[in-house]
Amino acid sequence: MLRAESVLTYSAMQKSVIAEERASGVGLTKEELQRYSRHLIMPEVTAEGQKRLKAARVLCIGAGGLGSPAALYLAAAGVGKLGLVDFDRVELTNLQRQILHGTKDIGRSKLESARDRLRDMNPEIEIELHECRFSSETAQQIVAEYDVIIDGSDNFATRYLSNDVCVFAEKPNVYGSVFRFEGQTTVFAPHLGGPCYRCLFPEPPPPESVPNCAQAGVLGVLPGIIGMLQSIEAIKLIVGIGDPLIGRLLHFDALKVQFRELKLRRDPQCPVCGENPTIFAPIDYDQFCGARDDASVPGISVQELKAKMDAGEAFELIDVREPFEFEIARIDRAKLIPLGEISERADELRREQTLVVHCHSGRRSAQAVRLLKQRGFANVYNLEGGIDAWSDFIDPTVPKY
Ligand SMILES: [Zn+2]
Repeated sequence: MLRAESVLTYSAMQKSVIAEERASGVGLTKEELQRYSRHLIMPEVTAEGQKRLKAARVLCIGAGGLGSPAALYLAAAGVGKLGLVDFDRVELTNLQRQILHGTKDIGRSKLESARDRLRDMNPEIEIELHECRFSSETAQQIVAEYDVIIDGSDNFATRYLSNDVCVFAEKPNVYGSVFRFEGQTTVFAPHLGGPCYRCLFPEPPPPESVPNCAQAGVLGVLPGIIGMLQSIEAIKLIVGIGDPLIGRLLHFDALKVQFRELKLRRDPQCPVCGENPTIFAPIDYDQFCGARDDASVPGISVQELKAKMDAGEAFELIDVREPFEFEIARIDRAKLIPLGEISERADELRREQTLVVHCHSGRRSAQAVRLLKQRGFANVYNLEGGIDAWSDFIDPTVPKY
């Protein structure tokens, strides 16, 4: 039975996403034949599959938790051109999961650190660095250079952007996401018959309802597993073997050690890949995802806060993070009231006083501002970018975490 199934899978082999004329123009050197010998001896891959890998160009969006294992294995597998897009620097808190980078790389650009590691892994391949924000302005031009896109981003704005530009350019978008002990992956490729990200999630969730890794935590090895699954999917699409995760979402629960598969359907009403699409070019994703322009939460920038302090203005600064975060880093004179206690402890605050509320990045504090406004506080402001921005722009001695 098992044998029959595997024969069926083999015969249902997908067509490679690499055009035959591109792969046939590629040769393998003696060193490459040796390096990839464990691929070449498999009848599903052979030199033909390896040449497709060498002809292939894969883009990893993000050189972080998901991008690290994906890029490492794609480099090792011999993907001819590997592109990375990121603009962050390596921080100590990254190293618990972002295995492209080492302790000696702290403070370096993630892309330079990644390039050094990947070159050591495989000097035969070409590595292209895109040191910029993957944005509506840059995304289409970058994606045009590649055959397969690995989305290793950690925010909704980039996910929608990555989805849309891949649909426009008819490139498979290998999706991955992680949250604490759980992760999921799928391949979005409407041009190959599956749905896109917007078919599943037409609207982004309210920004404060979805914490990222910095707020919720993640088991370090979890993005390792999901990122590796993403690289497997990319390799299958390129070699042209197996059943890709098109129209299927694989969910992994590390605590139960359980994989579950969900069937995904295309939405005919989808605004990018549906029957009557209404979106044909990148939109403003920050606005779409509510990252700014939330009229119910008045904001104040870190520069404005600094000016208030310097001018000796009267106001109270409230920190709504958790006590352990307060131990790591704090802004002088801030009063700690964790978000979960803000409603019951609101009476500790004076309603006529101006309040500035901050957290790590500005999301929890936005929620606190809403809660306080509901309780009759009129002069309450959210510190945009949180203590992270304070450390970046005002006081670099405040540790980042
Ligand atoms: Zn769609």
